[in-house]
Amino acid sequence: MKIPGKIKKAAAWMLCLFLAASLLPGQAFGQEASEEKLLAITFDDGPGPYTAKLLDGLKDRGAKATFFLVGNRVAGYQDIVAREINEGHQVASHSWSHPKLTSLGGTRLAAELNQTADAIRSITGQGMLYLRPPYGSYNETVKAYAGGPLILWSVDPQDWKYRNAATVKEHIVSHAGDGDIILVHDIHPTSVEGALAAIDELQARGYRFVTVEELLYRRGITPQMGQVYSSAPNRGINLPAREPVYDGEDFDETKLETHWAYPSIEFVKREGIMSGVSENAFAPDKYLSRGMLITIFYNLSGKPAGTASEPAFADTAPDAWYAPALAWAKEKGIAWGDENGNFKPEEFVDRQTLYVFLSRYAQTLGMLEKSRSAYKAFTDEDQISDWAREPIHRLFESGFGAARADGSLGPQDMATRAMTAAVIHHFVLNEAVREEGDSRGKDFSYS
Ligand code: ZN
Repeated sequence: MKIPGKIKKAAAWMLCLFLAASLLPGQAFGQEASEEKLLAITFDDGPGPYTAKLLDGLKDRGAKATFFLVGNRVAGYQDIVAREINEGHQVASHSWSHPKLTSLGGTRLAAELNQTADAIRSITGQGMLYLRPPYGSYNETVKAYAGGPLILWSVDPQDWKYRNAATVKEHIVSHAGDGDIILVHDIHPTSVEGALAAIDELQARGYRFVTVEELLYRRGITPQMGQVYSSAPNRGINLPAREPVYDGEDFDETKLETHWAYPSIEFVKREGIMSGVSENAFAPDKYLSRGMLITIFYNLSGKPAGTASEPAFADTAPDAWYAPALAWAKEKGIAWGDENGNFKPEEFVDRQTLYVFLSRYAQTLGMLEKSRSAYKAFTDEDQISDWAREPIHRLFESGFGAARADGSLGPQDMATRAMTAAVIHHFVLNEAVREEGDSRGKDFSYS
């Protein structure tokens, strides 16, 4: 039977509505929400050395913010950008090198925006990026190239000029009202301190801090590319908060059995290779830190007793939760530091780093001596970094790697805890299979 296009379209719409409804659990349409006073605080010019402290402060306060990042700063702070996203903030563009965009020709303008978008997306994977043009300066060309809505502000404490926490706080508190977008810069310690103090005061007055995206949504505004927004006061539309559709941090752990990696998660938990992030949470879609990764290999090896009492690396404490694992891994040559002797245990790992560590681990066990199969290039082979290529090739030639079902490796994507569980599960299974001499697990792949 042929279904007329119109009905098909209607059916598709209904499906969309149904999906939208089912993805928004626990929505409360109540008076409370419609009365709620909202503010969006935004931080420009980062990430920088004070951003981590700011994130800690926002977390303590349950406040969400929007970060307009300068693209050329992202490379040094990838872990911070990942944190911003993981902790529910909005990440957006403030151009690559902070020029006055109105003074640029189309080619340079496009480069400023595209390079930044690529740097951010390689970490967050997100689609449309909001743009704050440096100095708030824009024209029709900038609007045409923006690739997302332009976000200005309605409260400006000029924190970059005064560099005084009390002044920053005072200005924000005395000027901010419902629907305002507040401009601050997280590259000054005084701004971070002043902003957090202002949040305390305004929360006490009943304001909720949300991302710009959330603010627009709740005020019934669908942001348009190239349109300019500088505030969103309540003009009769004040929708209730959206539940996050999906967020690793807030994964519904009662639904863990429906997760694609559930068999592997069960396996690594049962075998004591990975534990949860807390008693009741595995947080499958959260990113994996370097400290967690080293602990996994330590657990795989049966937690050998360590000998070292010195901190393993310049930036690691001898009493940290990962310290015994790290001391062991350093001794084995599995963990190594950067040029300053830092290990960066809190930094998140991308997928190629995970495979390189696994390759080193397998190497120390003498498992990579024989090549079992010719190396088959991944569909995204060209995205593997030079330093990672050789160890990854050896791992896969020896049959110990598991790729995605579609033949890609995703080397620059961040490694999630679930993906790691699947890779480790395959690795262990493969090892066991060799000992038993059969071929189970050979065709293992994961999404
Ligand atoms: Zn700026």
